Amino acid sequence: MPFPYYARLSARQKEIYRASDAIVAVELPGAEALRPLAEELERALAAADRRAVEATCRRLASGICAALGVPPVKVRVRAARPSGPHEELHGLYEPEPPPAQITLWMRTAAKRRVVAFRSFLRTLVHELLHHLDYELYRFAETFHTEGFFQRESSLVQQLLGERPRRGGRARAG
Ligand SMILES: [Zn+2]
Repeated sequence: MPFPYYARLSARQKEIYRASDAIVAVELPGAEALRPLAEELERALAAADRRAVEATCRRLASGICAALGVPPVKVRVRAARPSGPHEELHGLYEPEPPPAQITLWMRTAAKRRVVAFRSFLRTLVHELLHHLDYELYRFAETFHTEGFFQRESSLVQQLLGERPRRGGRARAG
């Protein structure tokens, strides 16, 4: 069952959507080598050290891009997201102008608390997946599909050294 917005897509977009939905995992070669970086990210977040968080995210992103053979992406980490209609959002992916750029916000807008490690890592991976949609899968557009969210879980689990859980539910974001 596609998400409701599928009905409003053009025939060409529906084709991309279905292709995206069909890919449910990303195999990350050498994932073990990147796990210490995930641990480093957890420590940097716990210390609320923005510069260390940013440096670690950059190493993680470039490690993932290199492992998958796609062009690198720029990553910057900002303090708190300005409040507004999208304040739930902690990340942003901008493919244009090149090089592609990911912006992450370290603190929640409302309470200015540091975002929890797992959801922060998931946000980084989420934005990287938009990058992979263009650069690895060569989709003309990137859509949030159930397959997209499954790929997100798959990458997070590999970075954390967890075994895939069955029946993981898709979520919006
Ligand atoms: Zn997204």
